[in-house]
Amino acid sequence: MLQFDILTIFPEMFPGYLNESIIGRAQKKKLVKINQHNFRDYATDKHKTVDDSPYGGGPGMVLKVEPIYRCLQKITRAKKKKRKIILLTPQGKTFDQPMARRLAKLDQLVLICGRYEGFDERVRSLVDEQVSVGDYVLTGGELPAMTIVDAVTRLVPGVVGEEASLVEETFAKKGYIEYPQYTRPEKFKCKIRQQKAEILKTPEILLSGDHRKIKEWRGKQAGKKSCRRK
Ligand code: SAM
Repeated sequence: MLQFDILTIFPEMFPGYLNESIIGRAQKKKLVKINQHNFRDYATDKHKTVDDSPYGGGPGMVLKVEPIYRCLQKITRAKKKKRKIILLTPQGKTFDQPMARRLAKLDQLVLICGRYEGFDERVRSLVDEQVSVGDYVLTGGELPAMTIVDAVTRLVPGVVGEEASLVEETFAKKGYIEYPQYTRPEKFKCKIRQQKAEILKTPEILLSGDHRKIKEWRGKQAGKKSCRRK
């Protein structure tokens, strides 16, 4: 079973998303375990301080190294063969599907969520990897942590009902984009961007019942990233 341990000062942000749907069911089926740890609990002063102003001056507050260190000491005490400690930072390596596949093979994945101006530089020495979810800056590492838990969990064997959906989906292979999908109604009348009415039709081939031809059509449609993105 893959165990996630998320270090955050906002643990209450997680259950609403992670306890629902596929990720919620994966936890119930004990395919993954998701723990949140408030590293404020590991601060030793009476105000439970986790941040302080930066040495040398500058804006905002910086997360202190000691509470994160103490929390890591506790949650990495158990012997695990395959464990990674990841620091979430916009400065890290960009998260992608190959990385998700690699992380899905672990026994324990520890994710550290920064806040404010980030963390004391020495936190970087405590981790195995630094990971970003994209070239933009969020207010905290909680959304990146949820993104990684979600993308990694659905790759754990048994989590996604039909394994075929993982084989045929976007990024299953390098540069692969899934073929277009349609469902009822067959024809849909609408005004696109408030212009004149149009009928959007399902391609005839998908209604033909000819599975060989449908497979061929899907094969031709898949992998066209450039024409599917505006
Ligand atoms: N001062 C930092 C900098 O310039 O690199 C940014 C700090 S950001 C406001 C606060 C925290 O949010 C970061 O420490 C990190 O944990 C998280 N964060 C923000 N953007 C992120 C991203 N793109 N990927 C991963 N984590 C991110």
